[in-house]
Amino acid sequence: MNLSDNFPIEFYDALVIGAGGAGMRCALKLTEQGHKVAMVSKVFPTRSHTVAAQGGINAALGNVTPDQWQWHMYDTIKGSDYLGDQDAIEFMCQEAAEIVRELEHFGVPFSRLESGKIYQRAFGGQSQNYGEEQAHRTCAAADRTGHAILHSLYQQNIRLGTTIYDEYYALDLLKTINGEIGGVLVMNIHDGAYKILQSSHTLLATGGAGQVFRNNTNASINTGDGLGMVLRAGLPLQDMEFWQFHPTGVAGKGMLISEAVRGEGGKLRNALGEAFMEKYAPHVKDLASRDVVSRAIAIEVKEGRGCGANKDYVLLDISHIPEEVITERLPGIRDISQTFLGIDPIKEPIPVFPTCHYMMGGIPTNIQGQVVSPDDLGEQKVVKGLYAIGECACVSVHGANRLGGNSLLDIIVFGRKAALTISEALHSHKPNRSNTDLNLQSIRQRLQRWQKRSETSAETSAQIDSVIQIKKSLQQIMDRGCGVFRDHQTMQQAFNDLQGIQLRLDNVCLTDFNDVFNLERLAGLELENLVAIAFATVTSALARTESRGAHSRVDFAERDDQAWLKHTLYFQEAHRLVYKAVNLHPKHHVAFEPKPRVY
Ligand SMILES: Cc1cc2nc3c(=O)[nH]c(=O)nc-3n(C[C@H](O)[C@H](O)[C@H](O)COP(=O)(O)OP(=O)(O)OC[C@H]3O[C@@H](n4cnc5c(N)ncnc54)[C@H](O)[C@@H]3O)c2cc1C
Repeated sequence: MNLSDNFPIEFYDALVIGAGGAGMRCALKLTEQGHKVAMVSKVFPTRSHTVAAQGGINAALGNVTPDQWQWHMYDTIKGSDYLGDQDAIEFMCQEAAEIVRELEHFGVPFSRLESGKIYQRAFGGQSQNYGEEQAHRTCAAADRTGHAILHSLYQQNIRLGTTIYDEYYALDLLKTINGEIGGVLVMNIHDGAYKILQSSHTLLATGGAGQVFRNNTNASINTGDGLGMVLRAGLPLQDMEFWQFHPTGVAGKGMLISEAVRGEGGKLRNALGEAFMEKYAPHVKDLASRDVVSRAIAIEVKEGRGCGANKDYVLLDISHIPEEVITERLPGIRDISQTFLGIDPIKEPIPVFPTCHYMMGGIPTNIQGQVVSPDDLGEQKVVKGLYAIGECACVSVHGANRLGGNSLLDIIVFGRKAALTISEALHSHKPNRSNTDLNLQSIRQRLQRWQKRSETSAETSAQIDSVIQIKKSLQQIMDRGCGVFRDHQTMQQAFNDLQGIQLRLDNVCLTDFNDVFNLERLAGLELENLVAIAFATVTSALARTESRGAHSRVDFAERDDQAWLKHTLYFQEAHRLVYKAVNLHPKHHVAFEPKPRVY
């Protein structure tokens, strides 16, 4: 690569960065509307993390128990610990039934009831009639729902001819000379060649960043690249203190055992054989919201009732569930247990412990999928040319804690909505290429920094550590400092340690940064994003002196609506924080006022 060369440019009506469920749904709609779209993915599209989603997608179809979108809305707001924006949650829950029917027509093979209707299972935090009996709201294709959705959407995109850049890595957003977002710089992973994809409409759908923690359920590609790009463009991230720890990761390994297992009747037990959730959530027990169950497990272990030689996990018992239910509804879970633990859950319980699963925060957007950022007067303004959807975005429908089955819904609802927003803009104003000159200076500077690292490390590589070592240290710092329970001391220590990580990254040894296939370079670029996200998380979490949803502080154990019913916005420069109000104004339903959250 020669940085003085001009990069080749391709021009598109719209760019979709990411080919998970969110990106695919968006690209499909845009292509269907006749626009010239490019979708970019750093892995082959059907390897995106959506493929791993097990349990299902929520919609108030009422096929198993009576249901209404208004009850779904209430449950989601309560689950969010009242931090979710009520206008966005209302919109998502209203759209859900239509979205599921549409997926079915795209070819998703949903599991069926005897009647032929779509099967729906019980998931945590779901209720009938605003908090009464358990609801069954999660539509599932056995325990491989994400796989079915992603493959169906991919086939539909192929059918319509969406242009796909697979195994291309997006490095950074490009700005026009007017300061609007005008495209991205991408790199072909096979040969390291750069290319500019230019467009007046760039959408980020780059997924989550669970790799910031050591124990996580996420794919190794979930490194929050879109979030890093946004921070480097001088834009904020929202609510980054809120990370979901899933209660049932395979102990010591992290991979997910779906909530569907408890939905089908599975019970958590401690070393004494007690079904301990009865103590923590007397009404709904094992199907309490995820943050509640994760804390309960952490407390059982901390108080010495953990299982195994080190007393460091609990057991998920499904031995009382009929064998045919397990083989029909939970075949993937049985597979995971047999492959990774050598355990057949029909006969033996599964060792589990909380594991980082989902990022509630992300790139702030409005319901239309447009990225928003405060101006100098603190007013929220649309960032021209930039959109975000899916796990990388924060719209915010999950607030401080996401309910199971609501993320697949979020990615499809807002994937479709953002496509309609872009399509409308394209129909009213076809972009003119000549007035979108790009400013490449900051991008060249970043690449030059990396190239320099490779040159200096060639001289001193023996003494300097590697990208992999730094990533491991980063993950340990985050596990220790910002896990299920946190306090000022653990987080301040994490912040200090992160400064050391930043220094190590600045001097990292990179053997080659030239025009070749080089996975170390890729890991380095990803690590830069993870470190930026870790700073956003720790800074936001240190400042929030309350406990809400997944942000659980030992030193501030109560929720404080007076001071903290507001969203955090984090800017990378000087680790600056500003705050914005939670939307308590749904369009159709009355607002749900914050109440104590009991299950
Ligand atoms: C194990 C597991 C099980 C889950 N089960 C459920 C469930 O049952 N129900 C539910 O509602 N939710 C579930 N979730 C959550 C849900 O699956 C995810 O939040 C959701 O699928 C994310 O979709 P996405 O499209 O935003 O991102 P992803 O599917 O993660 O896709 C991200 C895309 O961005 C691309 N990308 C990223 N960075 C770059 C870059 N720099 N350059 C180019 N491309 C890039 C990737 O290649 C990929 O195509 C689960 C999550 C996990 C980890």
